[in-house]
Amino acid sequence: RRKWRSVVGVLRELEESCETPVGRLRQVVDAMAVEMHAGLASEGGSKLKMLLTFVDHLPTGSEVGTYYALDLGGTNLRVVRVQLGGRSSSILSKDVELLPIPQHLMTSTSEDLFDFIATTLKQFVEKEENNSEFSSLRTRELGFTFSFPVKQLSIRSGILIRWTKGFAIDDMVGREVVECLQAGLARNGLDMQVAVLVNDTVGTLALGHYHDADTVAAVIIGTGTNASYLERSDAIIKCQGLLTTSGGMVVNMEWGNFWSSHLPRTSYDIDLDGESPNPNDQGFEKMISGLYLGDIVRRVILRMSQESDIFGPLSPSLLVPFILHTPFVSKMHEDDSPDLQEVARILKEKLEIPEVPLKVRKLVVRICDVVTRRAARLAAAGIVGILKKIGRDGTGGISSIRGRSDIKMRRTVVAIEGGLYTSYTMFREYLHEALNEILGEDIAQHVILKATEDGSGVGAAIIAASYSSYT
Ligand code: ADP
Repeated sequence: RRKWRSVVGVLRELEESCETPVGRLRQVVDAMAVEMHAGLASEGGSKLKMLLTFVDHLPTGSEVGTYYALDLGGTNLRVVRVQLGGRSSSILSKDVELLPIPQHLMTSTSEDLFDFIATTLKQFVEKEENNSEFSSLRTRELGFTFSFPVKQLSIRSGILIRWTKGFAIDDMVGREVVECLQAGLARNGLDMQVAVLVNDTVGTLALGHYHDADTVAAVIIGTGTNASYLERSDAIIKCQGLLTTSGGMVVNMEWGNFWSSHLPRTSYDIDLDGESPNPNDQGFEKMISGLYLGDIVRRVILRMSQESDIFGPLSPSLLVPFILHTPFVSKMHEDDSPDLQEVARILKEKLEIPEVPLKVRKLVVRICDVVTRRAARLAAAGIVGILKKIGRDGTGGISSIRGRSDIKMRRTVVAIEGGLYTSYTMFREYLHEALNEILGEDIAQHVILKATEDGSGVGAAIIAASYSSYT
């Protein structure tokens, strides 16, 4: 009995430290906007890197022709080909091939990695040759999505700052990424031109904008999380005299590294961060994205299991970091069977916790709910932070200064992608709910989150089209 009381105590403490009332979310919104400003004001001015992308115009839907993309950013390599129709945003055909990157190549040499990439691309291109005629008068053009921290030098060049996500190819750090790819293509006898170098959120933004000209920002919430948006050139103070024909430029926020004292942090977050390979980095990401949510839930269950016997004897599996993947959190959270069969099954199969009473299963669902709800609401606050920075949150506009009630809020679209948003219904619903709370219904009805698909690859191919040297 006393055991159960202490477990309830752990739950209450979790609930309290994860609380995200709308007032607190608004503080996060403000902090995000302030940090964005600071990151644009000076190099190193904020934990938000606010990287220039040199993408100064976004696709309009009138691009035409066949373009390729390579998407390297995590566990898989994606090769993409799109055929663009030239009007009304039509994509006539889209081929996507996905290959896991062999583990040994992630820590090998850049030559090995790019030989693998080039041969994969070559096979993909040759397959096409058999069933269509590609004009041999033109060199094929390629968008390269490289989702690692890059100091971009131009639309088609950038230097790798450091590896993340398990990659560690030392000879590449500090080198120009497109040169490495271009050399790999040449070594393998593939005549293709890298037209643009982008990161995944920029691809998502481009695809969103291709279909809908009101798209102003893109957010990815998958294994990790990041966002990009269209900024006015003159607001990018750290780059004095930055001139673009459009007057704007896409900024890659690297928002996973955002931090603010207003973020509701728990002891589980502190432990997770301390035991991670990158302590003090990616603080926002560690509260929000798929790589981490499962592990936060595991840590709570572990604590309860240490303080009581409600889960039986302490299961050694509970001590294994990252053993509980986020898709299982969503399966347990969304278990609608009356006796929570799915929860029981996952506890048994993933955490080696034998049959527990229904009230304990309910407790597990509650933990999933608290952790996921916090994540989704913070992501929503981040999005509103971007809208605030660009004056699309319905406040501070000229009409509201005049105190008029008929504020004209422009239709504002945010492209969104990633497994958490697309595949975890409760996460998505909590995110939408928080957006409505923060913005209020009147403003929120003008803000549309639009899910895109394969944006990182398809979007890169479309940017390659809009930066083609043939048009
Ligand atoms: P990535 O970010 O790895 O490029 P995705 O955007 O598809 O790829 O996101 C995959 C991540 O999304 C997984 O690592 C997982 O954490 C999360 N995810 C995928 N499906 C689900 C799901 N059904 N429920 C919760 N999380 C999910």
